[in-house]
Amino acid sequence: MNETIVGIDLGTTYSAIGVVDSGFPMLLADEEGKRIMPSAVWYGVEGAVEVGRKALRRRELDGLRVVTSVKRYIGRELSAEDREVLQDRDPVEISATILRELKRIAEWRLGRSVGKAVITVPAYFHDGQRNATKRAGELAGFEVLRVLNEPTAAALAYGLDKLADKSRVAVYDFGGGTFDLSLLEMQDGVFQVIATHGDTRLGGDDLDHVVAVKMLEKAGIDEMQVSRELMIRWLGEAERVKCALSANERECFSLPFYEGHSSFSHELSRGEFESWIQPWIARTIACCNKALSDAGMLPSSVDALVLVGGSTRIPAVRAAAEACFQRTADVSQHPDEAIALGATIQAGVMSGAMKKLVLLDVTPLSLGIETLGCLMNVLIPRNTTIPCKAGEMFTNAATGQTAMMLRVLQGERELACDNWELGRVEIAFAPMPKGQARIGVQFRIDENGILEVLARDVKSGRDRILQIQHAAVNVSDESVEKMVSDSVEFAFADMSERVWTEARLKADELLPAVDAALEVGAQWLSEEERERILRAATRVREVMPSKQANALKEAVQELDKATESLAAKIVEQAMEQALPGEWENRQG
Ligand code: ADP
Ligand code: MG
Repeated sequence: MNETIVGIDLGTTYSAIGVVDSGFPMLLADEEGKRIMPSAVWYGVEGAVEVGRKALRRRELDGLRVVTSVKRYIGRELSAEDREVLQDRDPVEISATILRELKRIAEWRLGRSVGKAVITVPAYFHDGQRNATKRAGELAGFEVLRVLNEPTAAALAYGLDKLADKSRVAVYDFGGGTFDLSLLEMQDGVFQVIATHGDTRLGGDDLDHVVAVKMLEKAGIDEMQVSRELMIRWLGEAERVKCALSANERECFSLPFYEGHSSFSHELSRGEFESWIQPWIARTIACCNKALSDAGMLPSSVDALVLVGGSTRIPAVRAAAEACFQRTADVSQHPDEAIALGATIQAGVMSGAMKKLVLLDVTPLSLGIETLGCLMNVLIPRNTTIPCKAGEMFTNAATGQTAMMLRVLQGERELACDNWELGRVEIAFAPMPKGQARIGVQFRIDENGILEVLARDVKSGRDRILQIQHAAVNVSDESVEKMVSDSVEFAFADMSERVWTEARLKADELLPAVDAALEVGAQWLSEEERERILRAATRVREVMPSKQANALKEAVQELDKATESLAAKIVEQAMEQALPGEWENRQG
């Protein structure tokens, strides 16, 4: 018998858990028969805790003690305001409480304990957020075998992994608090994320808010005068009406005795509701168009459209997505269950309960280290399929240096300072002439997207290992998205900065070497050659202060060329005389 591995969608507003049973993936329902659990936790005064629907029911009377949308905060730095909303609790701990409840439901349904899990995260989550999610799972008593991208899970749920190679899938995910559009491409049996675009402040919650505000208006109540407790009740009824209007043409918004003797009721039509939410729908479509243009794709080159997230049950939302991608959507799965189902399928594949292709995820942003001149040196490019490994050899920049500080960076920009630092590791080595130390750096990303950096002094064999566990807490979700668009926007300026820096470093190295070579190798030079070298060196010195990247690059190339044969002669001579490599030292 295979060991049980569960699949979990830890959502912003709703979460779910599933398992493969007798070869079929299925979600596990709680005692009330519900397969979807609100991601809400109520913390009572005397240490009492309630999770899910029970916590939400407390919202009407004890709204301030109910924490929702904790996923927005996980793995990020918190502001004072955030801390207040979270009641001074750690988002990892709150998420763990939600996961513990899902675990309890699964164990109760299955009648046995479950210890291993696959948990999904948005494709744009950075290392810090992935790690924090994994830690929450561990705190809840799971061994987290994989942190899986949500769009990949959705594609799995719809069986799209059976599509032909090079097929493209658009995953339109409109949930409770966020919107994401991901474009995936099937390559050699695995999905690659080719573009993702979203809005972390756009979801079904906004639509509830629109309805609540319109209804307050109708009731003649000033929104600003409404207490938070009362607003929670109006929002709760607004959500109920919104969901009902996905199935019915009309629905009554009704709040009996919302305050003392006051009652309110008003009938709404679907058409009315859909006209109010047009601006929000338009924003999702703008994200779709942006992702398509980022990927250089036309809507017609998408082979399948998948709708995920509860808000895609709204007919107007579905129609807008279909119009944008010029095709009908596959609606064979429940949109709010698809991600959990996909996680369950992945878990089933891993446990052997389900025979299927194993899908691999990709790195959302490039990873590398800072090199001389504050440049980003990418070791693992963005969108590399994980698990993966990459290494490079580095050397000392100065004679006598005894240690090297490696700054581990994440991001798409050419300059180190524009990327995010995930951590630092210092590796010591014996002092040596410039360019003689050999420091090997290896990046390894495991199947959960967790990064291990190994630095080795080749001479002594000494290792330093850095595990990036609390990575990138200083950045917000929005800036992850911004990183990718900035890299496009500033591509030109960044590139010219890189060209400049590289040329300048080369010039700094070449100029003193050329001066020395002119002395050592004077006897092999014709007047003409000597002139050419001097002219080239002067040109480099002239261009240096101008900061014209391409001009400096050309000048340095010319100097390099002019000294080519001289350098070769000097090396030859040195070898003949078996002098210990003076040139080598200098070139390092
Ligand atoms: P998450 O944000 O956690 O990914 P879901 O994908 O489950 O959550 O989406 C939750 C959102 O979907 C909520 O805003 C909820 O009100 C909305 N929703 C659920 N069912 C419907 C429905 N029938 N019609 C409209 N919206 C719905
Ligand atoms: Mg979701």
